[in-house]
Amino acid sequence: MICYRCSHCCYWFMVTIVKEEYFDKIKTENDLTMDAVEIKEERVWCKYLINNLGKFVCTIHHYSWFKFTPCYQFTQMEENKDSPCRIGEWYRGEGIKYYDDFLLNKWREHNETKING
Ligand code: SF4
Ligand code: SF4
Repeated sequence: MICYRCSHCCYWFMVTIVKEEYFDKIKTENDLTMDAVEIKEERVWCKYLINNLGKFVCTIHHYSWFKFTPCYQFTQMEENKDSPCRIGEWYRGEGIKYYDDFLLNKWREHNETKING
């Protein structure tokens, strides 16, 4: 399945993410141990998701080890590995007018939580 990086999973799903202190320690798939990861709960903003001039992007996709992560390897029910993600396709097309407002509100809440504790 081809992920469009629409950010849906980065907010709604419980996701296993790599701890920051392990970013420079992971060289092979075997280095991605249980110690190196933590859980991002569902309906929580992933700390690696940022709002870059209105476009939501994952800030750790460029690491060479990212292809070992559950985020990268996650797949939904699609016809084959080259099929586009239907949810992402919708969000990148017709759904963007709903989704962007939703995400922008969540982004504001996320930052208010960080600022106000
Ligand atoms: S690590 Fe990146 S792809 Fe995974 S949930 Fe966080 S922002 Fe999304
Ligand atoms: S819904 Fe699909 S396109 Fe969007 S982040 Fe999840 S897998 Fe990727």
